[in-house]
Amino acid sequence: MSFADLGLSDELLQAVEAAGYTEPTPIQAQTIPPVLMMKDLIGIAQTGTGKTAAFVLPMIDILGHGRRRALMPRSLILEPTRELAAQVAENFEKYGKNHDLKMALLIGGVQMGDQLKALSAGVDVLIATPGRLMDLFERGKIMLTGCELLVIDEADRMLDMGFIPDIETICSKLPANRQTLLFSATMPPVIKKLADRFLTSPKYVEV
Ligand code: AMP
Repeated sequence: MSFADLGLSDELLQAVEAAGYTEPTPIQAQTIPPVLMMKDLIGIAQTGTGKTAAFVLPMIDILGHGRRRALMPRSLILEPTRELAAQVAENFEKYGKNHDLKMALLIGGVQMGDQLKALSAGVDVLIATPGRLMDLFERGKIMLTGCELLVIDEADRMLDMGFIPDIETICSKLPANRQTLLFSATMPPVIKKLADRFLTSPKYVEV
């Protein structure tokens, strides 16, 4: 299996080559085609398996079309920690350099001014921790009705950190016909319940 078999655009194949990757990891090979076909997906994979590129690469191609609108991110990636959110943002910058995509990072512990400015200019990808996102949402600084793609990453760590109620609230504010991807290293019953409630006929991938 090569990256060229997965259905990614030429621009992305160039970015993958520039990153020095010769072949997709198992989670990438199994995840990228269904995500490009706009399916919901549950991915059971640990960090270190190439999981981030498994969702960032197809997202870049999906978001390649469409228009940005003020305060309405087109996609949302939820991460349990600031560090993970920052790593995902780095991945977007690395793989998305041939695409005109705007990204904003919404994490606690930093000044909100720049984050708000980015949001009002319109973003394709919002990478957020649940606490800061809920905070802005409750203050009416962000609208989630235009968000057509949601990634819940590290779901089992979200559970450990007490973020599941926030995630349920966030999910219920997104359009019902969105695409949802959920990644977790394990599948405890609470996460299974979350997936049953918020994903539609998901493809299940385990590596
Ligand atoms: P992740 O599991 O997303 O944290 O990725 C772990 C590491 O694997 C990161 O440093 C990536 O840059 C690297 N990586 C991701 N995909 C590939 C690939 N197809 N070939 C080689 N390295 C990769």
